[in-house]
Amino acid sequence: MRIVHSYFDAFVHLWYPHICLQCGTDQLEKQDVLCRPCINKLPYTDFENEWNNPIHKIFWGRVSFCYANALLFFTKDSIVQLLITELKYQQNKKAAWMLGRLMGHYMMEQMKTEPVDILIPIPISPSKKHQRKYNQAQLICKGIQSVTQLPIVEDLLIKPYESASQTHKDRIRRMEAIGQSFLVEHPHKIKNKHLLLVDDVLTTGATIEAACIALSNTEWKNISVFTATYTI
Ligand SMILES: [Zn+2]
Repeated sequence: MRIVHSYFDAFVHLWYPHICLQCGTDQLEKQDVLCRPCINKLPYTDFENEWNNPIHKIFWGRVSFCYANALLFFTKDSIVQLLITELKYQQNKKAAWMLGRLMGHYMMEQMKTEPVDILIPIPISPSKKHQRKYNQAQLICKGIQSVTQLPIVEDLLIKPYESASQTHKDRIRRMEAIGQSFLVEHPHKIKNKHLLLVDDVLTTGATIEAACIALSNTEWKNISVFTATYTI
C-alpha cells in the first residue's frame, strides 16, 4: 500500500523524502522512522516478565521491581544505536514516539496481571534539557501513552538546577551528602499507584536506582521499570 495519501503529502515527500532509516524504502507509516519489515526485524529482548530475567538481575539486592524489562538489545553499530542517536542528538522525535508505541503494545500484551497506573519519565540534567530542548524519556512516555492511555507524571522526579534559590541549594547540598540525585515533588500524585519508570537506555541501572532511592519515602503501591533498550 502506498502511504502517500494526498497531493500535498506527495509534494512534501518530493522535497523531504520520508524514508526508512534502515532500508531506505518510502513505504512506511507517516509517524514511523522504520518500515514494518524493519520494525519486525529489530532485536527484541523477548525477556519474560520473570524475577530472574537479566533486567531484574541488574537490580538484585538494590531494588525489587514488580516488572523489570527492556524492549530491545542495544549493540554498537546497529539500527538500535542509530535510533537512540537520532532521538538523543538529531532532534528525531519520531524515533522516540515509535519506540514508545512499540513499548505500549508490549505492555498491553505482557503487563496485564499487575496493571501500571502512571508513567514516570527519568529526567535528564537541566543542561542537557536546555541543549536538546526535550527529554527523550518523556517523548517515549508519550508514545506509550498513545497506545495505553496511561497518565504521565512529569513533575515528580526533578534534577535540580545548580543556579537555584538558597533554600533549593541547601536541599541540593543535603541530597549530595547522602548520594541522592533526584528531588521528589508532588508525592501525593503517586499515592497507592503502580509506577512505571521509563528511560531510553539501561546500562548499569545507576540512574534508575537513584530514582528509586529518591522515591523510597513516598507511598506508592508498586514500582516497575521498562526501558526502550538494554546495553549488552
Ligand atoms: Zn525498512
